[in-house]
Amino acid sequence: SSDRVFNFAAGPATLPENVLLKAQSELYNWNGCGMSVMEMSHRGKEFLSIIQKAESDLRTLLNIPSNYSVLFLQGGATTQFAAVPLNLCNPDDVVDYVVTGSWGDKAFKEAAKYCKPKTIWSGKSEKYTKIPAFDALEQTPGAKYLHICANETIHGVEFKDYPKPAGESTLLVADMSSNFCSKPVDVTKFGVIYAGAQKNVGPSGVTIVIIRSDLIGHAQTITPVMLDYKIHADNNSLYNTPPCYGIYMCGLVFEDLIAQGGLSEVEKKNAYKAGILYDAIDGSKGFFRCPVEKSVRSLMNVPFTLAKPELEAEFVKEAAKEKMVQLKGHRSVGGMRASIYNAMPLAGVEKLVSFMKDFQARHD
Ligand code: PMP
Repeated sequence: SSDRVFNFAAGPATLPENVLLKAQSELYNWNGCGMSVMEMSHRGKEFLSIIQKAESDLRTLLNIPSNYSVLFLQGGATTQFAAVPLNLCNPDDVVDYVVTGSWGDKAFKEAAKYCKPKTIWSGKSEKYTKIPAFDALEQTPGAKYLHICANETIHGVEFKDYPKPAGESTLLVADMSSNFCSKPVDVTKFGVIYAGAQKNVGPSGVTIVIIRSDLIGHAQTITPVMLDYKIHADNNSLYNTPPCYGIYMCGLVFEDLIAQGGLSEVEKKNAYKAGILYDAIDGSKGFFRCPVEKSVRSLMNVPFTLAKPELEAEFVKEAAKEKMVQLKGHRSVGGMRASIYNAMPLAGVEKLVSFMKDFQARHD
């Protein structure tokens, strides 16, 4: 509605308007039970119905097979940077990281505390604008897992397909924080998928882990109880008090994604939205530029710069005046970034594109 802005933030990010309105309508008294979701016991039948529905809808959306567990955790994706090696490796195990941006690099650095990670490819020297050719990857024989960041939120590079781990028993592990539920994914290719909720599926405070069940139960002895997947799996994500309200919000988003026709439909919308934005950048005769190699441009996070960098602050300021906010690029890369997750309406991207054309006409 007219009192809302178009919020291009990278996360926490915009949520679907109908989801917010539904949450508002249920806030005071959920389903006639006389209290809000924030106030109910996480062990009561009301909340159990909420978390079970959220899990079952997520399973429907991503077609998650029954031999995979779904965990609703806390601590953000950052906590998973440690939990993954702690649960999958012994301290002497070698694991491979493909580093396509800052998040992959952070994951690699955290893993070094708990096992022996190796960066087998890094896009750093090319300013993280590429994804490597998979056949050129020099995977370590016997590596426990191969870790990728499926979408680098800051640099805007996205895997369009996934590398196959070279070893028979090597697992593929992916940080999908910033493209989770933005398109269908073949979960069976992965040992573990993890994602913070606050970009595509809910508020911050919920972290979702999808893990092949046989990988659970082998954590290092030093693993804190809150990081041990077995503890959470055995207790259906209710070992301790979970982020109840956040899980409820994720559930509303999952319902909304199903109502939209599921993730293939969602992907089509995302591809269209990103397409018109990249076309506007590429069609600007160099006034706007996106540094990312075309074939791996993210459908979620679109970084761009101005040929005249001195105009960037003006661009961000004028856009904000027109109710398009959070367009400043990440402090580490500068320029601009438009995050256009599932919940960014087409109207928001169209408005940005027309603003960009107008801005160029006034400043070219
Ligand atoms: N991985 C990716 C790809 C991210 O975008 C982020 C957050 N921007 C993180 C990890 C860290 O997530 P959190 O803040 O939930 O720990």
